[in-house]
Amino acid sequence: MNASHPTAPGGGAHPAAPCGDGTRAVRAGLPEPVKNEPTLPGPVFAAHFHLPGDVEGPYTYGRETNPTWTLLERAIGELESPGEAVETVVFASGMAAVSAVLLSQARTGDTVVLPDDGYQALPLVREQLEAYGIRVRTAPTGDEAQLAVLDGATLLWIETPSNPGLDVCDVRRLVDAAHAGGTLVAVDNTLATPLGQRPLELGADFSVASGTKGLTGHGDLLLGYVVCRDPALAARVRTWRKVIGAIPGPMEAWLAHRSLATIHLRTERQWANALAVAEALADRAEVTGLRYPGLPADPSHKTAVRQMQGFGSVVSFTLPDRAYAERFMAALHLVEDATSFGGVRSTAERRGRWGGDAVAEGFIRFSAGAEDAEDLVPDILRALDSAGGAG
Ligand SMILES: *Cc1c(COP(=O)(O)O)cnc(C)c1O
Repeated sequence: MNASHPTAPGGGAHPAAPCGDGTRAVRAGLPEPVKNEPTLPGPVFAAHFHLPGDVEGPYTYGRETNPTWTLLERAIGELESPGEAVETVVFASGMAAVSAVLLSQARTGDTVVLPDDGYQALPLVREQLEAYGIRVRTAPTGDEAQLAVLDGATLLWIETPSNPGLDVCDVRRLVDAAHAGGTLVAVDNTLATPLGQRPLELGADFSVASGTKGLTGHGDLLLGYVVCRDPALAARVRTWRKVIGAIPGPMEAWLAHRSLATIHLRTERQWANALAVAEALADRAEVTGLRYPGLPADPSHKTAVRQMQGFGSVVSFTLPDRAYAERFMAALHLVEDATSFGGVRSTAERRGRWGGDAVAEGFIRFSAGAEDAEDLVPDILRALDSAGGAG
């Protein structure tokens, strides 16, 4: 293994004993303290590095390696799979990471299983896979429906909770069935974040995510990553990054690492706000199809409780029609109308405006920020009243 890709938590900066999520988050990926040096070294802007003589040492050319990525990759690995040697590869975006796994692992003639209710760009990936002669089967996330289409597949792609429908599937059950048939398993962990769910501990071969959402939480950068245990699988993903060149800029990588220090604080608050919003929406007659895995009455709850440490910041629900949903969106004061999710400022959107997801015209995907629940919940209830003509 190349020394430039540290796989295990480092030495002095890390407490020896296992510790809680908050403690791990604030120290994740930090180098050993060096006198007169900053705690988290600043971004290293370099296309190339001094390289006299033979090609050796960790840093050669900026499309292959960068010290700012090294620290971020170590940090993400520590959050995704605490106390275990894993390999992390960061990418320019979540889609770069998703594509890197699918396109580096599947070959012409192989079969890949995707969810049919996953992220809206997956159908585009499907087209690309099929153009390369890779067969694609799909099934919904709920009730482990993918079990029925696993036979002979090279790779199973799971997205749980799914975006935007918030269905949850039993990762361990799918992994056991997949591995029994020699199928690799990748889990899109974007919605849960590594504090909410640890796919590698549930048996998955790859944990893949967009770092654009809750991982970094400020809505100011795009990032993606792949984490896996098997160095051979990681090597293929790393080579794919080198070939395709979908690398994160050092500034984005550094901002992401800086943001990880607060991931525990952010997610704790955002998940509590999401639950408060979901509970308030549950009492409203005009709201149908309410989904939040943290609600005891939610169809996903039982499985979510077994495999998740937190249920995420996204709540989805449906208002009577498109005009109703648009009036609701326009009446919100503390919730920005924007796509994406997982940020410290609450956002929501009428998802049907994109045309990609199979959702009703009045479907709203809401993402809870870190506001005070005492402000956020009344804002949403007031906007509902206003949309219904009561204010
Ligand atoms: C946003 C998202 C992606 C893609 O991430 P980008 O950073 O936008 O490329 C992939 N999967 C899920 C579940 C997402 O929500």
